[in-house]
Amino acid sequence: MDPSFALETLLTHADLDPEELGIAPPIHQSVNYSAASMEEFDALNDQPRPERYYRRYGNPTQARLERVMAAIEGAESALATASGMGATTTTLLTLLSAGDHVVAQESMYGGTLSLLRDTLPRFDIAATLIDQSDTAAFEKAITARTKLIMIETPSNPLLRLTDIDAVAALARAHSILTFADNTVATPVNQRPLEQGVDLVMHSVTKAVSGHADVQAGVVCGRDELIERIWQAHIQVGSVISPFDAWLALRGLRTMSLRVERQNQCAQAVAEYLALHPAVRVVNYPGLADHPQHDLAKRQMRGYGSLLSFELRGGQKAAERLIPFLRIPVRSPSLGGTRSTLVRPAAMWSNELTAQQLAEAGVPGGLIRFAVGLEHERDLIADLDRGLATLAPAIGR
Ligand SMILES: *Cc1c(COP(=O)(O)O)cnc(C)c1O
Repeated sequence: MDPSFALETLLTHADLDPEELGIAPPIHQSVNYSAASMEEFDALNDQPRPERYYRRYGNPTQARLERVMAAIEGAESALATASGMGATTTTLLTLLSAGDHVVAQESMYGGTLSLLRDTLPRFDIAATLIDQSDTAAFEKAITARTKLIMIETPSNPLLRLTDIDAVAALARAHSILTFADNTVATPVNQRPLEQGVDLVMHSVTKAVSGHADVQAGVVCGRDELIERIWQAHIQVGSVISPFDAWLALRGLRTMSLRVERQNQCAQAVAEYLALHPAVRVVNYPGLADHPQHDLAKRQMRGYGSLLSFELRGGQKAAERLIPFLRIPVRSPSLGGTRSTLVRPAAMWSNELTAQQLAEAGVPGGLIRFAVGLEHERDLIADLDRGLATLAPAIGR
């Protein structure tokens, strides 16, 4: 595959086998494969990442998903896993040992935060969490033991940005690896590997598969790093099912169409909310008054499907608004066909305590809105009706 092809072309062609006549790929469901001879069996067993040996080691359908993901992220290789958390946990277990230190962000996905704060310290791996919008804070947090900087930009649910160029350069100067969660941005809008980051992960569950019917993850990077992560992966066992790999591949073909549409829709919804008198603040990197809008313009090609906002009436008003809305469903996840809307403080109460949520800067009244593929006209009309019930005195 010609790596100079545009992302759209890579999405539909990067995994194709010229010998294959079927236009849609097959699903390889078999767990184990046979070898024609003893010699062939030994060779299979010795091969790094065999596709036809035993499913935990690899699978032909999984390998096709990995080829497309590596191509669109500009990586040498990729490893698909059973979930985004599977990709993150396996990667951190590979790269870190007792005594090591990680620099990460206060504002990150809840599961990543609880892994860094609660689980890794049991293995004597410490993390310092900093405000990602303060680039100097990354440098200040580095110690002689720092092995990894983990970033997520824009972050979920606050849509704060990390200066990818600056953090990648800083890490390189200190011989520290960088690992980026690119789920919220998507490879359509942002490609951190091109900016010098070492590893990128996605929750494939979200915009990559795009239809809320797959749970999967992927990590992309240099061959040597992905092979090391694979060695841990066959122990962790966060193995993607071939059917989920196939569904993810099917969803992936249309990712650029979906994401570009969602970029437009989220921009329109954010602009509408920003002008509404009942709304206190809107977090969306595509808004000119987002505190890091200039950075967003520099490192993103589009601003994504995710936004969050707070009402002037705080958590009470949020709890009144959400049940009133007819289109967005009260549901976790993002990047699917249907809009979802949640209070992150309620959604993450299993993973983070009230105090940890406050430290992560997630106010009780924050509403996260992940636009789906509905038309913005209908989403805005729905919000308009809901918001009107909150502030009947404010005429619009
Ligand atoms: C959902 C999500 C994850 C975790 O992915 P799973 O597939 O649910 O394990 C990680 N990071 C971000 C930003 C997410 O939105």
